Amino acid sequence: MPTDNPQPLHTPFSAPLYIMAKPAGPSCNLACEYCYYLEKKDLFEPKQRPIMTDATLEQYIRTYIEAQTTNRVEFVWHGGEATLRPLSFFRRAMELQKQYAAGHDICNALQTNGTLLTPEWCRFLHDNNWLVGISIDGPQEFHDEYRRNPLGKPTFLNVMKGIRLLQQYNVEWNAMAVVNDYNADHPLEFYRFFKNIGCRYLQFTPIVERVKPDGRLATPLDNCGELTEMSVTPAQWGKFLCDLFDEWIKEDVGKVFVQIFDSTLANWAGVSPGLCTLDTNCGHAAVMEHNGDVYSCDHFVFPPYKLGNIHHDSVISMMGSERQLKFGTAKSATLPRQCRECRWLFACHGECPKNRFCITSDGESGLNYLCEGYRMFFTHVEPYMDYMKKELDAKRPPANVMQVLEQLKK
Ligand code: SF4
Ligand code: SF4
Repeated sequence: MPTDNPQPLHTPFSAPLYIMAKPAGPSCNLACEYCYYLEKKDLFEPKQRPIMTDATLEQYIRTYIEAQTTNRVEFVWHGGEATLRPLSFFRRAMELQKQYAAGHDICNALQTNGTLLTPEWCRFLHDNNWLVGISIDGPQEFHDEYRRNPLGKPTFLNVMKGIRLLQQYNVEWNAMAVVNDYNADHPLEFYRFFKNIGCRYLQFTPIVERVKPDGRLATPLDNCGELTEMSVTPAQWGKFLCDLFDEWIKEDVGKVFVQIFDSTLANWAGVSPGLCTLDTNCGHAAVMEHNGDVYSCDHFVFPPYKLGNIHHDSVISMMGSERQLKFGTAKSATLPRQCRECRWLFACHGECPKNRFCITSDGESGLNYLCEGYRMFFTHVEPYMDYMKKELDAKRPPANVMQVLEQLKK
């Protein structure tokens, strides 16, 4: 039925609710140059040790499970660096999950820089089926450019040691790589490195950071800010995706899972993309600090986006609050006309609101900084995506596209 309101409905409880937890707050044993999270220390009392107490852990686990409307409940342990907490903390978390499971199917994921992993850690991760996301920015030269410890020393070899341990103990893992000014011009070197080290699940995040005159990173709320040199340019991002896609589509569909390609295909097929930046709205995934404070999104940990505290506010009341609803629907509701009329809107959705600080060709604010790169990418992949969507519609594997490309070569 036609409606006066073309905006999609935001239905916070129709999908699983996610609140990822930061058991060590913003603390980290590394000091990567582009890290947006180390500054979060300023949100807490200087004397407050940023660790999650047992009472906060229990309250979180109990109320988070109770709030879910789906059987599966996913816990994501994030940082800072979560492995700064001892294994006993995570063993206790699992005990509490069992205690409050009430028939739910519970799974855990850990996001880590991998440098503190030990055989004991890996045994725990394997025995309890945890999925591990490792932050690594490609081969040594690329990774070490920005991912350094507080003494300025490179960290690649330590991360690789962690990855080798995970592999030795058969822990399921994926790579989360940041694309920046330094590595963006080498997509194939980057991609082949991951394949060579046996990684089959890859996520890429483009670095887009602005710095204010006082030297602090600009927040999504700041109108001012100079782009940092390590940020990727829109053209670099577009070319990076196109070049990488060209290799993936020929050799690796169905073998290597690149999140942004899978999500793009999902949007082409009209199903949920899984990647929030390419989704219609935000608001399903919040974040909880070590002290129980809950914020709208990991990229919006600022006072105006605080939804409450796990000790005083229920998960349902926070995730279903007017504030979170508004945060979620703002993604589509605040799109400039250029996006609303863009032929790629179905695939792009204006990308992440944190990157919308540019002016459209007709002078409207709110255009995504990476727009040019996304237009380049979507235009480039259109024929392949069309083909794979047809295969999906016919209940055939999208990987058939590789045979077609092979035949065209002959
Ligand atoms: S603000 Fe950006 S990172 Fe946060 S949920 Fe929205 S798209 Fe995702
Ligand atoms: S490609 Fe550019 S104009 Fe189109 S929806 Fe994305 S950000 Fe907006």
